[in-house]
Amino acid sequence: MKVAVFSTKSYDRTFLTAANVGGQHELVFFEPRLNLETSVLTAGFPAVCAFVNDCLDAKTLRAIAQKGVRLLALRSAGFDRVDLAAARDLDLTLVRVPAYSPYAVAEHAVAMILSLNRRIHRAYNRVREGNFALDGLLGFDLHGKTVGIVGTGKIGALTAKILHGFGCRLLGYDVSPNPDCQALQMEYVALPKLFAASDIVSLHCPLIPETYHLIGAEAIGQMKPGMMLINTSRGQLIDTKAVTKGLKSGKIGYLGLDVYEQETDLFFEDLSNQVIQDDVFGRLLTFPNVLITGHQAFFTEEALKNIAETTIANITDFERGRTCPNQINLEELKK
Ligand code: NAD
Repeated sequence: MKVAVFSTKSYDRTFLTAANVGGQHELVFFEPRLNLETSVLTAGFPAVCAFVNDCLDAKTLRAIAQKGVRLLALRSAGFDRVDLAAARDLDLTLVRVPAYSPYAVAEHAVAMILSLNRRIHRAYNRVREGNFALDGLLGFDLHGKTVGIVGTGKIGALTAKILHGFGCRLLGYDVSPNPDCQALQMEYVALPKLFAASDIVSLHCPLIPETYHLIGAEAIGQMKPGMMLINTSRGQLIDTKAVTKGLKSGKIGYLGLDVYEQETDLFFEDLSNQVIQDDVFGRLLTFPNVLITGHQAFFTEEALKNIAETTIANITDFERGRTCPNQINLEELKK
């Protein structure tokens, strides 16, 4: 099947080409993101393969459907960028990669916790400049601290498991509790209690209307002074301006972000020769207790291999008219 692959980086080419055994599909790699302007490139392609920051709003979906696209294959788990009602009305088939390596994201969340706590990001720079002073690098024992996990699905549960190994006390919040977490003595509580009791809060729930700006002024008001907030899920779970205020007042003592509300204008590109226009993001970069990575939590060899292999299998299922286990049931939206 002829597939237009958008937002392609060198690593996407490498892993997708390796997974496309025997050249079963004709993969055409495009570097630009998919949006209304670039949708012209999809002419003649029955399938489009997109990533997390491609624009999949109603206008773009209409444009690609008019060009003949029937399959939208996401190289991601999250599908919050897709206008699902439009996809259903246009009779598009939507497939994704629901789990490629929950370990990758959970391990990155823990890496952020450890780096922020022990100030590894600051120590690295100091030592390179011959500054071996320890002032300002004081950390705390993770052992015995309370960690609140919001969203205890695949990634949240693995994060909990790793932190359980450090001797942390675990609190959880989820619309459906996970027995694997309960087996780690995680206590499920309401969000206000989780915020009030946690030294560290790590977000692992999906971005849906109910979780948009889950962390805003009200939630921050309920938190322990000096707490650590980690977000490796989706940027819009956090009201960044409210969090900036929380950092300024000291209510938030540490912030680790792998995702950011307005990341589509920034992440995955080398902008080092440009002036960053986003002042909210610019302010975040000035805090010594903020660590930001550019949506790289998923970025391990194992994850890229799984993403590529599952994407190719999803496309093959569609081409052969087989039931695809990774298809999103758009018909359910009608109910
Ligand atoms: P999952 O579906 O296994 O788990 C999500 C959990 O959130 C489920 O247990 C679900 O019940 C829970 N949930 C749903 N609504 C909720 C609500 N309103 N409040 C609290 N919990 C709620 O998903 P996963 O594989 O663990 O992934 C979690 C998120 O991580 C994804 O939605 C995605 O946005 C993000 N992610 C980020 C990266 C990255 O590179 N940074 C990579 C993969 C996934």
